Amino acid sequence: MKRVRYWSVKNARWLRLIYQGLENCLVALHPIFIRLGYSRLDRVFAAVEKLFKGFLFDSKSCGQCTLSETGMACPMNCPKSLRNGPCGGVRANGNCEVEPNMVCVWVTSWQGHQRIGNPVASIQVIQAPVDLRLKGSSAWLRAVRKRIGASDA
Ligand code: SF4
Repeated sequence: MKRVRYWSVKNARWLRLIYQGLENCLVALHPIFIRLGYSRLDRVFAAVEKLFKGFLFDSKSCGQCTLSETGMACPMNCPKSLRNGPCGGVRANGNCEVEPNMVCVWVTSWQGHQRIGNPVASIQVIQAPVDLRLKGSSAWLRAVRKRIGASDA
């Protein structure tokens, strides 16, 4: 829902803090995840993420979450699925050239960055192209594996 998505960007600062706290908790649980098996947990986590991120961010469950780097705005809501935006078609009022009734995802991303503070640093991170093979998998568990340096993250 667009209204909730815009609200999330308006509250990007504390939502990102919650996100970082959650990630730290999940990293601390890594030894338990190893014992239970990441592949077995993936479906459960993906379902929780779909519910939570789908409601707050209109997440498309791409499995490669960039919310912390994109001002808590999901880039998959861009009709062109641009992971590094905006394109050259942003309207003068800040709306999308493809969906005139929607604020350009990258305009909201920039607004979210400004609310988080230090906006330039993370928005300048070049995001990798989306890997469609990861769609529907857990981005949170992938982030944990990335933090602990697993090669398959
Ligand atoms: S205007 Fe923004 S949201 Fe629309 S296609 Fe371009 S980058 Fe994507």
